[in-house]
Amino acid sequence: SRTFNQYDTIITLDNGVKIGGENFLVMAGPCSVESEEQIMEIAKSVKKSGANVLRGGAFKPRTSPYSFQGMGTDGLKLLEIAKKETGLAIVSEIMEASQLEYFENVDILQVGARNMQNFELLKELGKVDKPVLLKRGLSATYQELLMSAEYILAGGNKKVILCERGIRTFETGTRNTLDITAIPYLKMKSHLPVIADPSHAAGLSQYVEPLSMASTVSGANGLIIEVHNDPKNALSDGAQSITPIQFDLLMKKIVKLRKVI
Ligand code: PEP
Ligand code: MN
Repeated sequence: SRTFNQYDTIITLDNGVKIGGENFLVMAGPCSVESEEQIMEIAKSVKKSGANVLRGGAFKPRTSPYSFQGMGTDGLKLLEIAKKETGLAIVSEIMEASQLEYFENVDILQVGARNMQNFELLKELGKVDKPVLLKRGLSATYQELLMSAEYILAGGNKKVILCERGIRTFETGTRNTLDITAIPYLKMKSHLPVIADPSHAAGLSQYVEPLSMASTVSGANGLIIEVHNDPKNALSDGAQSITPIQFDLLMKKIVKLRKVI
């Protein structure tokens, strides 16, 4: 908390990119890695638009066991190829500690909303020397999110990034409700970087831009955005994925916006 450390935590990735404080980090890429062509095309385009980190799920926590479960270790290998080719850092979701050996070359370990209170996983990630992107649980309070972060910090890993990704509410017009208050609240209580995930919050691509702008103005230290080169045929989360062209326009707006705030 701020009482323990009044200064913002700043995390530096292996490629020199920083998150926290005045730094603004944009992570972008598909929900799932689907093929070499897909990830390479998206990686090159988001890099050109100014993203610093490539996202891509390889182990996917799907609601239905019959939905695409991700490419697993093959997906991570494709992310590594994209990292080598573009120089982008990579972030991918880890679902259990036994998968850690596969994540050696992954720069940021993502803990998904569904695993925010997987305490045994959090304890193991506390022993790792890698940044952890901790997503807020589907119905988790701020305190529960902060206590989950504490599990990682208590183990000795101080590189935790908090992520507001929308919560369950009574509203059915969108997949989740972006809790914009979470951004200033978490930043006041905690010294950790806070980013927003407008894609999972909205569930619909047309809301990604306005929610990204709102998160930026609210003080987020960065964004994680789902970008797909063929959203209609995406194997997961196509409805909320924006195209590389839409992402490029969004990045231009964010740059302009950051100049006036
Ligand atoms: C994802 O990032 O694709 C994902 C599954 O996110 P969340 O855990 O926030 O639902
Ligand atoms: Mn997704």
